[in-house]
Amino acid sequence: MDCKETLKNLWMLLDGEIQDKDQHEILDHLAHCWHCTDVKDSEERLKSLIKQKLEYKKAVPSELINAISQIVYGK
Ligand SMILES: [Zn+2]
Repeated sequence: MDCKETLKNLWMLLDGEIQDKDQHEILDHLAHCWHCTDVKDSEERLKSLIKQKLEYKKAVPSELINAISQIVYGK
């Protein structure tokens, strides 16, 4: 698996929506590719940050939540 493929599957991996076989290939790639590991780490940080922020949901306007979700999840 190359960098392009790995990064394409990264979100699915972080969301736990990936097949065992693919997961193995991605982790294998991450083990020797600092670039993808770097991207994965920052995505993970971003995800936990968003999760933290969402816990304060009531204090945050829903338009902002939607805007962030759109940027992060592309939905
Ligand atoms: Zn890579």
